[in-house]
Amino acid sequence: MATTGDRAPLGTPRHRASTSEGTIVEHEGINRRTALAAAAIAGSGWTLSAMLSPAEAAVRVPGSPAPVLPAGMTPWLEVFVNWSGETRTSPLWTVAPTSADQVAELARWASSNDWRLRARGYQHNWSPLSVESGSTQESRVLMVDTVKHLTAITVDPTAMTVTAQGGASLEAVLNAANNRGLSIMHHPAPGDVTIGGALAIAGHGTAVPASGETRPAGATFGSLSNLVVSMDAVVWDETSGDYAVKRFERTDPDIGPLLTNLGRTIVTSVQLRVAKLSNMRCRSYITIPTWELFAKPGSWGRSVDSYLRSCGRVEVILFPFTSFPWVKTWEFSRYKPLLSRGTSSPYNYVFSDNIPQQISDLFKKIQTGTPAIATQLGPAQQKITATSLTTSFVSDLWGAPKNLQLYVRPNTPKVTANGYAIHCRRADVQRVLYEFHNYYKASVNEYAKRWRYPVNGPLEIRVTGVDNPADVEIPGAITPTLSPSRQFADHPEWDTVVWLDILTFPGTPYSLQFFQECEQWVINNYASYAGVRMEWSKGWGYSADGAWQNQDILQNQVPHSYSQGQPADQGWDSAVRILEKLDPSRIYAAPLHDRLMPPNGG
Ligand SMILES: Cc1cc2nc3c(=O)[nH]c(=O)nc-3n(C[C@H](O)[C@H](O)[C@H](O)COP(=O)(O)OP(=O)(O)OC[C@H]3O[C@@H](n4cnc5c(N)ncnc54)[C@H](O)[C@@H]3O)c2cc1C
Repeated sequence: MATTGDRAPLGTPRHRASTSEGTIVEHEGINRRTALAAAAIAGSGWTLSAMLSPAEAAVRVPGSPAPVLPAGMTPWLEVFVNWSGETRTSPLWTVAPTSADQVAELARWASSNDWRLRARGYQHNWSPLSVESGSTQESRVLMVDTVKHLTAITVDPTAMTVTAQGGASLEAVLNAANNRGLSIMHHPAPGDVTIGGALAIAGHGTAVPASGETRPAGATFGSLSNLVVSMDAVVWDETSGDYAVKRFERTDPDIGPLLTNLGRTIVTSVQLRVAKLSNMRCRSYITIPTWELFAKPGSWGRSVDSYLRSCGRVEVILFPFTSFPWVKTWEFSRYKPLLSRGTSSPYNYVFSDNIPQQISDLFKKIQTGTPAIATQLGPAQQKITATSLTTSFVSDLWGAPKNLQLYVRPNTPKVTANGYAIHCRRADVQRVLYEFHNYYKASVNEYAKRWRYPVNGPLEIRVTGVDNPADVEIPGAITPTLSPSRQFADHPEWDTVVWLDILTFPGTPYSLQFFQECEQWVINNYASYAGVRMEWSKGWGYSADGAWQNQDILQNQVPHSYSQGQPADQGWDSAVRILEKLDPSRIYAAPLHDRLMPPNGG
């Protein structure tokens, strides 16, 4: 429960919303709305980190009576602002339950008092699955902070499982597993995401089997959702006729849409299958030209395909207006190779989080109206990366998987991103990338010819397998129905997922148009030998009104991509029906859910 001692001091200057007319006019689409919402908050005298108790709120925000929550829970008012700063709300009532039972009490209270609940983890998500920008108390949304108390973790080395409450951070889960000689083979790069938040969107890292490699027991090449053994969630319970904590085993047909739930429930606890800890080697390269890395399929040389064959784990970060990307590979290595440097902690690429003055000056210029600086920013970042990899001795590291795969800190540049999961045959990964890189380069150059610079952050590429439920080693395990890496039923040969993200500063002029065109290209180009799903956590569904607004994508492309080739009881509609059955009062539905999964099917 929140106490006065827990609260941040009023007026802590963490982010201040800008009211400058110039800032607002410059933004397009979603970002224009974001700026307007931020301006409204700033106008009300709020700083974004301020938290007010009911008594303080009565004085500072008259007309906002605190909801009377079940006994023992006191809410406070707090602005919701996501990591990139694009989603900012008015102050919303927020509460931190101390147990799963308290979450259930809140759900019963919300259902009978016409309120909605939203699990709030570390607020890293880009897509507004929690709340939309500009939401006010009128929307009667109670934010449920999971990170304060719902953080317990236990490890069972014999069963090879880790059980974590929904608000436990990924880093804490990985540390707990690591301390008992266990690990997760691939996972998201930031440690400060909750396990509940990561499951909500099917979190992933990068990994496919290298040539001749067999899957280690307890590991998956699919998403984190595919590692779930069982989960506890607060859902409608038909026996008691109200919301209650319910355990779902992995064989329960209703668990399918809960495994990747888009925030349409609150997961209070989850048991994950984990693997034996095996050390890895992570090497960085910055001398491979794009023409070689993204070469035409079948070409000789250091292509992405060649690294997938030798290591199975590859990430590419291509800074804009550069031709030598930062390529990372990971491979299992029991002993420390002679040339590797051993590391016993994560976040080894200090230079990518702690921005040098030269780079932050360029950031500022872009954000204050000189977008063409993107042509200098990309090369400058590439150069600093190349130098720092050598001078800080991090180009060849060896250690526990978590120490090599957690490498994004919260202070990394606050960019926005689009995100797509392209399913294809393993043999077609190079073709997917060859075509995408050609498109990306041509499009960025075409804009530049017209003095437009919509992209100022990197293109990021990772590759995983699909969610094979057999990986969790439970006979009859159910597939994560709404995971972007769920197998396309009509294409069993598509065993690989290429994750594509393009990053740019929120509000960069012409970025909305660029993202719209890019999305249409992706959908059209990968319509025959490959298939497309949206990456839930990122930007997708672009229309002239912004991200997550394109009716055709929300109502046709997305549902079809989950129903294609599936029996009627395993497609999108049946997943939505299960979510409705488990949340008949729609207490967990955000406006984005209302557009994507409209009440009564729309
Ligand atoms: C810099 C950065 C790097 C990232 N890198 C990766 C990456 O490498 N791989 C990857 O897969 N993703 C990555 N992400 C995306 C990130 O994993 C997701 O946005 C994730 O949802 C964030 O978790 P959170 O705790 O911050 O959740 P929040 O942002 O607080 O919430 C996200 C959604 O999850 C729901 N949710 C939260 N907790 C629960 C719960 N207990 N039960 C049910 N629903 C819940 C929320 O209601 C909301 O709908 C990255 C994000 C950022 C900002």
